[in-house]
Amino acid sequence: MKKLTDDITAIKGIGAKKAQDLHNLGLWQAEDVLYYFPFRYEDRTVVADLSTLKDGQMALICGEVAQVNNVRLPGRKILLRVVLRSFGGKITLLWFNQPYLAQKFSLGKIVLAYGRYHYKGEKQLAVKDYRILAEEEEAEQYLGIVPVYPASEKISANMLQKLVDEALKGYLPVVGEYLPEAMREKYHLADLAWALEAIHHPKEWKDLNIARYRLVFDEFLLLILSLRQKKRNEKKLGLAQRAESTLTKEFLADLPFQLTYAQKRVILEIKRDMESPYAMHRLLQGDVGSGKTIVALYALLKTIENNCQGVLMVPTEILAEQHYLTMNKYLAKSQVKLRLLTSSLNKAKMNELKEQISLGKIDLIIGTHALLEDNVEFKSLGLVIIDEQHRFGVRQQLVLQNKGANADLLVMTATPIPRSLALTIYGDLDLSVIDELPQGRKKIITWHIGEKKREGMYGFLAEKMAKGEQVYVVCPLVSQSEKMDLANAEALAHKLAQEVFPQRRIALLHGKMKNEEKAQIMEKFRLGEIDLLVATTVIEVGVDVPNATVMVIENAERFGLAQLHQLRGRVGRGEKQGYCILISEPTTDEAKSRMQVMTKSNDGFFIAEEDLNIRGPGEVLGLKQHGLPELKIANLAEDIAILEAAKEAAEQILAEGLEHYPKLTERLERVRTSKILTMNGGKADGQFI
Ligand code: ADP
Ligand code: MG
Repeated sequence: MKKLTDDITAIKGIGAKKAQDLHNLGLWQAEDVLYYFPFRYEDRTVVADLSTLKDGQMALICGEVAQVNNVRLPGRKILLRVVLRSFGGKITLLWFNQPYLAQKFSLGKIVLAYGRYHYKGEKQLAVKDYRILAEEEEAEQYLGIVPVYPASEKISANMLQKLVDEALKGYLPVVGEYLPEAMREKYHLADLAWALEAIHHPKEWKDLNIARYRLVFDEFLLLILSLRQKKRNEKKLGLAQRAESTLTKEFLADLPFQLTYAQKRVILEIKRDMESPYAMHRLLQGDVGSGKTIVALYALLKTIENNCQGVLMVPTEILAEQHYLTMNKYLAKSQVKLRLLTSSLNKAKMNELKEQISLGKIDLIIGTHALLEDNVEFKSLGLVIIDEQHRFGVRQQLVLQNKGANADLLVMTATPIPRSLALTIYGDLDLSVIDELPQGRKKIITWHIGEKKREGMYGFLAEKMAKGEQVYVVCPLVSQSEKMDLANAEALAHKLAQEVFPQRRIALLHGKMKNEEKAQIMEKFRLGEIDLLVATTVIEVGVDVPNATVMVIENAERFGLAQLHQLRGRVGRGEKQGYCILISEPTTDEAKSRMQVMTKSNDGFFIAEEDLNIRGPGEVLGLKQHGLPELKIANLAEDIAILEAAKEAAEQILAEGLEHYPKLTERLERVRTSKILTMNGGKADGQFI
C-alpha cells in the first residue's frame, strides 16, 4: 500500500543517486513531489496559424515534413533544418548541433513542435520540445497547458515533469481530503486531490485559479495552525497595574520634545494593556528612528511605579550600553535604580548584581542574552521588553518572560510588515504601530556611487567633519575569513587616518574587540571625540548618536535591504541633514535593484515590501528559522484575502479542537517534521537569527 510518506526512491525511475539531487530541491518523500509546483505554464492548447504569428512569440506548430537537411555553419556548428507544411504556409524548424536527429524526420511524418518563432527571410521556429506523431495518432491528445518546474543544475525541468507525473499516477489516489465538506463549501474550496492534479495539469486556465486557491488556502491554514501550536500562551491573568502615578507623570512632563501622535497613541495602548487584569502581549512596530525607546521607557516606569521590576533585553552589548545611557539620562532626577547586565561584567560584580536583582533592590535591568541564564532571578518581574525582537527566538522570549509570574510582554521591531500579515504571523500578539517620525526629521539623502567617485566622496566627508559632524564607515564581511576582513577594515582605517584625513580623529570598531574596549570607543564617538568611525557591522542595531550625519557603506551589495535600511537609520537622528553613501559595483540585477530601492526611498514600509518582492516572504520573515513551514505557492503580499479566510477557518478548527480533524493533524505533523524544516529549523531557538 502506497503512503504519502514513502521515500522518494519508491517512485519509478528514482535511484539513490538521483534522490540525492532531488533532496537538494527539497524533495524527500512522495508527498513533497505532489507539492512541487510549476512556476509557470506553457500554453500549448492551440496549434498556431502561421499567418497570425508575431516575431519572438512562443508557438505550437503542427505540420507534415516536407524537407530535411543539415547545414554547416562557421565554427563547426551544424544546423538541422526541417521544413514543415503547416497551416498557413511553410515553416522551418531549427536545431543546433543535433545532426543525428535528421534521420527521425522521414518525409510525410506529422510533427508537433513547440518553440520560439522568428521571421528571418522565412518562417522559423527554434525548437524547444517536439513530438513526431505515430501513424494514426492524433495531435489533439498532446495539446494542453504544460507545466514548467523550477529545475536545478542536476535535475532538468523535463525530468521533474516526468517525476511529478509518476508521483501523481501513484499517489494521487492516496491523497485524502482533510477538510470537512461544510468547510470546503463555506470557503469555496476545491477537493484536495483534484486541486493537486489540476495545479500540475490544468485542463483549462480557469482550473488553475481554482486549484491555486485551494492550495494557497491550505498553505496558510497549515502555517497558522503551526503558529498557534507554538503560541506562547492563552490570554492569561496578569498584573493589573494602577493608573498613572508620579513616575510616569513626571517622565512625560519632562520630555525634551513633543511626543508624536503615534507615540501618544501607542503609549495609551500600552497603558490600557498594563492596567487591564490580563497580561500584556504586544508587538510594537516602528521604523528606525521612530522613537520606540521612549515608549519602552514609559512602560518600564509604569511597572516600576507599581513596585515591580522591569527588564529590557537587546541583542548586542553596544545597544544595551546605549539604552542604559539614554535611560540613565532620563532617570537622573528619579530614585529609579537602573543597572546594566551583560556578560562582560566580572564574576564578582555579576554575582553581586544578580543578588540585588533577586532581592528586588534593582528596579530596571537592561541586558543582553546574559539575562536568560538560570540564575538570573527577579523578586517581582512586572514587565519584559525585547528590543529588535527578530534577533531572538521565540523560546528565548519565553524564557525571560517566565522569570516573572505573570509579567507583561512588549516586543519591539523595526521590521515593518503589512498589518494583516503581522496579525497572522504574530497572531498571539496585539499590534501597535508607530507610523510617524518625529517632527523636523529630514529625509536622509542617499547616493549610490562606484569606486571612481571615492575621492570626491572623501572631499564631501572632509567638509562635513570640518563642520563638526561625524561619520560612520561600515565594512561588511567580504572574504570567508574573519581575519582578512578585519585586516581590510584595519587597512581602510589606517589609510583614512594617515593619508586621507590626517588631521581628523579616526577609530576602528570591530567584533573581535573586548566589550569594554568597544564601549569605550562608542562612548568617545558619542562625546564627539572621534570624527570618523570605521566599523564592521557591530553598529548595525540601534546606536543613537544624533551628531553623526554621514553613513558610508563599503561593498554595499553585500547587505540585504533590511540591513541597509537599519544601517542608514543610524544617521539623520537629529536636526541635521543625514546622508547615506553606498559604495558598490553591483554585479547582479538583484543587487542593483537593492541599490535603486535605497536611493529611491526612505520609507521602511516601502523597503520591506520591496524586500518581500526581491527575496520572497519566507526569507524576509525567517519562517524557516522559526521552524515554520515555508510557503511554496502562497504569496504573502498578494494573497491577503485568502490568508484572512484561512485564519478564520483556523480559528474554527481550533475552537472545535484539532482532535476532530485527524487527517489534518497528520498533514500538519508531516509539514512540521518535514526534512527541510528539521535540517534548517534546528537553529530556530537559541541562536541569533
Ligand atoms: P528607534 O525607534 O529606532 O529605537 P529611538 O527610540 O532610538 O528610535 O529614537 C530615535 C531618536 O529620536 C532618539 O534620539 C530620540 O531621542 C529621538 N526622539 C524620539 N521621540 C522623539 C520625538 N517625539 N521628537 C523628537 N525626537 C524624538
Ligand atoms: Mg531602537
